[in-house]
Amino acid sequence: MRQCTGCREMKNKKEMIRIIKTAENTIELDATGKKNGRGAYLCFCRECLQKAQKNKGLERSLKTAIPEEIYLRLEKELEAIEQK
Ligand SMILES: [Zn+2]
Repeated sequence: MRQCTGCREMKNKKEMIRIIKTAENTIELDATGKKNGRGAYLCFCRECLQKAQKNKGLERSLKTAIPEEIYLRLEKELEAIEQK
């Protein structure tokens, strides 16, 4: 079980998306859950991403400042996954 960085609910890892900070300090969605890096978990929904932005949970989990454009990019990527 992992906690969503947005809504703080505990869910099975498989029902969530992982967001990682890579060694190059970039923020990426990790749909496979296998990429290396410090990771945070989110439900598969944009609402939780927005919550994680507002409560700064994602920044705290990844221990880095995350600019607005990163959130926008993550949101688009999440949307693309949702539609599959
Ligand atoms: Zn959530």
